[in-house]
Amino acid sequence: MTQPFTHDVPPQRVVFAPGAVESVADEAERLGLSRALVVATPGSGARLGARVLDLLGRRAAGLHAQAVIHVPRPVAAAGLKAAKDAEADGLVAVGGGSAIGLAKAIAHESGLPILAVPTTYAGSEVTAIFGISEGERKRVDRDVRVLPRTILYDPDLTLGLPPAVTAASGMNAVAHCVEALWVPRRTPVTTALATEALRLFVAQLPRAVAEGRDRAARGDCLAAAWLAGASLAAGNGLHHKLAHVLGGFGLPHAETHAVVLPHVARFNLAGCPEAAERLRAVFGGRDPADALAAMVSGFPVPQRLRELGFDRGKIDAAAAEVAAATITAPRPVTAGDVRRLLEAAY
Ligand code: NAD
Repeated sequence: MTQPFTHDVPPQRVVFAPGAVESVADEAERLGLSRALVVATPGSGARLGARVLDLLGRRAAGLHAQAVIHVPRPVAAAGLKAAKDAEADGLVAVGGGSAIGLAKAIAHESGLPILAVPTTYAGSEVTAIFGISEGERKRVDRDVRVLPRTILYDPDLTLGLPPAVTAASGMNAVAHCVEALWVPRRTPVTTALATEALRLFVAQLPRAVAEGRDRAARGDCLAAAWLAGASLAAGNGLHHKLAHVLGGFGLPHAETHAVVLPHVARFNLAGCPEAAERLRAVFGGRDPADALAAMVSGFPVPQRLRELGFDRGKIDAAAAEVAAATITAPRPVTAGDVRRLLEAAY
């Protein structure tokens, strides 16, 4: 049965093509940027950032390759200072969710527009959600000003994404889709986006992990990542709350999603037959939680929270933090439920 809904999604220009990064200067011009600060992660991210800086030519104001996962507050402050020092009139975020997350933190304070060139499947470029971490806490918020105005999807940039990152990042996107099917704010659009993205990931993610240079698989996975990110407009539930709380304890984001998802699915699908039925169809009639677990176990990623370095002694604190969010849909969640779920994932 279709639930009452409000679908409220701000506009965004999306360009998807192999080689699309070559048009970054034209896209910057279209946004009216004349001094863009390129934001990236260090290492290989910085090399790609330098290439984008070159491509931007006279529209570039500099490269700030200091993004760190979960955007620690001092990293956000340094990014804002870099944008001010460079007198930037816009940000070109190149890389995964970490680079885009730093650009969002800068945009939240400065109002600078973002042009995003994503190179993982995290999907942050499609959302107005941003997070900043402080100690063991990550504060997550929404602000339409941080939504990138333009996204340039170039699947060629993902050909070198290592198998483990491909798998973890892909499961992060799969988690967006699975959760989109059971959150109360879902709409017919977010449900359709999530279902199509899942169909693409189930068919193509194993191929992209096994053979990173498979252009067809890479293109389908990046397109699926866009749809998966767009399905996040339905809002978050237990799964993303858990991932953010565990992220606050220093766990890597995408890998945590991969480990936790089958356990959350087993718990939540018991309260949402509609989502369970849809997922069963995507997985060819198999039990969805089992199928998700099988997907993860076939990938070269950590399989348990203990392999991610999670301290078992923090289970109670994590459970209390998740329970404090009083999640009631698709079924009420108590601290005891979360504790059992984390024990199983541990
Ligand atoms: P990431 O951006 O940290 O990238 C992971 C690693 O892969 C990094 O070392 C990076 O340099 C490398 N890398 C990225 N692209 C590459 C490529 N094409 N080739 C080779 N190496 C590459 O990780 P992520 O999982 O993309 O992002 C995680 C962050 O994004 C977290 O902080 C998470 O909270 C945030 N996130 C936010 C949203 C949102 O809607 N706001 C959604 C998803 C994730």
